[in-house]
Formats: sequence, structure tokens, C-alpha cells
Amino acid sequence: MKILVIEDEKGIANFISEGLQLENYLVDLAYLGQDGLDKALINEYDLIILDLMLPDISGLKVCRELRENNASVPVLMLTAKNTTEDKITGLDTGADDYLTKPFDFDELLARIRALLRRGQSNIADNIIKVGPVKLNTKTHEVNRSNKKLTLTNKEYKLLEYLMRRPDEVISRHQILEHVWETDTDPFSNTVEVHIRYLRQKIDKNYSKKLIKTIRGAGYKISH
Ligand code: CA
Repeated sequence: MKILVIEDEKGIANFISEGLQLENYLVDLAYLGQDGLDKALINEYDLIILDLMLPDISGLKVCRELRENNASVPVLMLTAKNTTEDKITGLDTGADDYLTKPFDFDELLARIRALLRRGQSNIADNIIKVGPVKLNTKTHEVNRSNKKLTLTNKEYKLLEYLMRRPDEVISRHQILEHVWETDTDPFSNTVEVHIRYLRQKIDKNYSKKLIKTIRGAGYKISH
């Protein structure tokens, strides 16, 4: 899952970015509102962390412009302010949640998980299930039929993205957008290679194969 962090205080931005990467998220950073807005409109993100007070255009304006462009990406707004009025304005503008600085990093992570599981019926208590496969988005443990599987970070990210969209055909382009770094060469065969690695671990020893190739369209995980 890829998160865009729009925050002008570089110390905070880098702290958030490093913490999120340790939790297996991919992170893009923008230190200015306009840069963040441009990135948000060009790339596909799973979530945006948006600071309210930015030196060029405000977080509120960034959020409003995003919504006016029909971007439905979840937005978690950050601010040093803690007045009810600011919270209401932020939420009215289209933010989905609000966190006041200074914040506890674990709380930030919990709110991110909550926003990412919205509207998803196959996630409960941070565990995503597809048939016999369970993936814990908090501990990053993956099991099939209660047997623990050891995945690399990249394999985990790929599996998590597929499992959040069970039965849905996911294109190679979508996988590159959400699971690979933003500047990845779109012509490389890295997606195919990692799908193959993932199959070795998820499906190889089982008669029922869950990861399917949809010729000319992409991949899906289903049971
Ligand atoms: Ca700021």
C-alpha cells in the first residue's frame, strides 16, 4: 500500500516516512502543498497524510481540490491546532480523519489501518482473509491453513494489495502503482517475477491455487 505524506516540517515528514516504511508501506513525500496535490492527482495512493499548515497552499485547499477532482483516496489530516472548529473544517473539506500533533506513532498506525479497512468485509481485527490465507496487517504474519509462511517485504506488500481486493482483477499497472516505488521502470518484468515468487510460497504446496493469472488483464486472488 502506498501512502503520500504532505508535510513541510522535514523532521516530522522524514520521521513519519521512515516509520511507515518499517511497517511495510511505500511512501512518497511532498514538502509543499502544490507538489503534494500534483503527486496525488498523477499517482494512485491508498492513503494521504496531509498537514494542515503548509507554506504555499493550505492542507484544506489541497483536500478540497482533491475532492473536486473526484479523488476518493482516504485523507488523514495532521495539525498542530486542536480546536473543534479546525477539526470540523477539515472534515467538512473532505478529510476522513484527523490527528493532532504531537501524536503517538502507534496511534497514527492504528488510524491508518482503520482507514484502509473501511468498507472491506474480509478484514476484521486487522486480519485479512481470503479462503485459507490470513494476513495480519499489524504483525505482518501470513498463514495458509494455519501454517506460517515467511515472505519477503516485497512479497508481503504484493500479497496484501491483492488480498485487499479479493476476486478483483488487478492490472500490472495497478500493482506497479501501489506496490512498487513511484519511479519504477514500467517495462521491467519485476511484477511477473514477484508473482512467481509469491506463488511458490502461497500456492505451490497446495492443490487449490489462489493466485490466478487473467491473460491480458492481470492477476487476482480468489478462493
Ligand atoms: Ca506544517
